Amino acid sequence: MTKSMIQATTKSNTKFNRTTYKTPMHNDPAFDDIEETPVKIDALLDILSLVRVSNSAAEEYLIDHYIVPHNPEQDTYGNLFVTVGENPSVAFTAHTDTVHSAYDFNRYYVGKKGNKKVPTPRDVANNLERQAIGIRNNVAYLDSENDCLGADDGTGVWIMLNLIKAKVPGLYCFYRDEESGRVGSEWSAQHDKERYAGIDMMLSFDRKGTTDVITHQMGARCCSELFAEHISKAIDPDGHVAPDDGGSFTDSFSFIDMIPECTNICVGYYRQHTAFEEQDLTWAAYLVNRLIAIDWNIVPVAREPGKLNNEHLAIVDLVTEFPDDVAEILETHLGLTTLELATMIAELNFCTTDDVERLVEKGNQMFPIYEDWAK
Ligand SMILES: [Zn+2]
Repeated sequence: MTKSMIQATTKSNTKFNRTTYKTPMHNDPAFDDIEETPVKIDALLDILSLVRVSNSAAEEYLIDHYIVPHNPEQDTYGNLFVTVGENPSVAFTAHTDTVHSAYDFNRYYVGKKGNKKVPTPRDVANNLERQAIGIRNNVAYLDSENDCLGADDGTGVWIMLNLIKAKVPGLYCFYRDEESGRVGSEWSAQHDKERYAGIDMMLSFDRKGTTDVITHQMGARCCSELFAEHISKAIDPDGHVAPDDGGSFTDSFSFIDMIPECTNICVGYYRQHTAFEEQDLTWAAYLVNRLIAIDWNIVPVAREPGKLNNEHLAIVDLVTEFPDDVAEILETHLGLTTLELATMIAELNFCTTDDVERLVEKGNQMFPIYEDWAK
């Protein structure tokens, strides 16, 4: 389909092109050339051409042709796991399904059981759906009428296939039904905890763009700054990749109470879940080679799973919720007298300690003082 184009632009050395880089919306790839990778970029284009609705023949094709050759273990939900090396401490994740608005919750269904629709049996023989993929300036886009390109998360799957081929030690988790609400990974987190006993870090390859290593999903911390900084620098020593707290969620979110460092890595897709989705192929290839080069033994693990880290605490909330305790701390532990504190409050509000006393007696907030002055 586009083989000659790919080969024409593939060179062994990447030329850094960040200065002119905008986003693939303008069809400017992150780099000039697509690096060589253990699994060819053609495999990514093949994966993108598969319309991988959950439980579809195309999703099954992806599993059979790309994951099954690595002898995965399959749990009863249908998630697939490939282990490289002895007792790895790193887990990598991607999901095999894609977003399709034509289907309820992005899945194929047949029939009904009571009020519940029942998913189709996974049937390779039927309806393998393909879509056309175009490439402009090393950026892949959807070249037919369909719901999405599916780089979310076909690119994640392709990255994992590369790491497996490069023999990077790890537990490779291919989860199902992420797009219907992390169903596969949630199932695994609840029913298959032992699988993750030795895992210290989990990296999902399911973040848009080329700049983020995710520290928070749904506002909750999922990995430490130390860990995110280390991974960011390892991916891009020039500092364009950085920790980012604006993650929504992906499969690693299902494990934040279990695994110390959970993150999501930018894989270079844009406008996911739309027909205008694009994949920066230069970034995907670059990222693969950086990930292979990481020494996973020296990546710091600093977060305690399940710990809130008190990030959402504010002093004003403590004063409101624990006024007596705060008073005791100020008076007994910090040695502040009532008059000293009243003086400080008066100074902050440009009034006298008498004003403060009057307002306390009235049970008022501070701001009505200004109203009094205005009269
Ligand atoms: Zn995704």
